[in-house]
Amino acid sequence: MSKSKIINKIKINKETFDLYLTEKKIQARSRYLASKINKKFADKDPIFICVLNGAFIFFSDLIRHINIDCEVDFLKLSSYGDAKISSGNVTLIKDLNCEVRNRNIIMVEDIVDTGLSMRYIKNLVMAHHPKSFSVVTLLIKPDSLKYDIKIDYFGFKIPNKFVVGYGLDYAQKARNLRSIYQLKTNGKA
Ligand code: 5GP
Repeated sequence: MSKSKIINKIKINKETFDLYLTEKKIQARSRYLASKINKKFADKDPIFICVLNGAFIFFSDLIRHINIDCEVDFLKLSSYGDAKISSGNVTLIKDLNCEVRNRNIIMVEDIVDTGLSMRYIKNLVMAHHPKSFSVVTLLIKPDSLKYDIKIDYFGFKIPNKFVVGYGLDYAQKARNLRSIYQLKTNGKA
């Protein structure tokens, strides 16, 4: 890992975000999650599916710690746009490009908030009859969950506050940051 200066506070559109999860913590957890997946899916040739855009950095870090035979694919859903709360609608922007039938599918998400997106994804994938369906997400907001979603692997449980960095955006900004930052003022709205 290249050394870089730790930024403790950032501003986006006049909102302040404080450092919440450091790069070091995230990297250690990604390695741990990958080691669990390597054990569980050895000889199962899984397909890892990255949910764009938010998961692209977590996905690329996680996948480089995967040392078993595997494939990758990408799915893109509608985003929050420029807001900090979900519109409550999910639309598919880019569909899968792989043969799902009878394969072990591992979805890789940045964050599960209400669970609406993951429920949508699960329905989409299950319609193609995979052998198994698993979910790995870097972050989960347990207090925000509205749908009964099984999360097989998670990085961190976090409070119901808006976060950015490490792939996660606010109005398309901050995806490039190495750490995760939490909105200073209360709540998501
Ligand atoms: P859900 O459908 O579970 O309510 O929301 C999932 C999606 O909402 C995530 O993939 C992510 O794009 C977005 N999201 C949820 N919470 C946050 C957050 O705190 N920060 C950012 N940047 N995006 C979020």
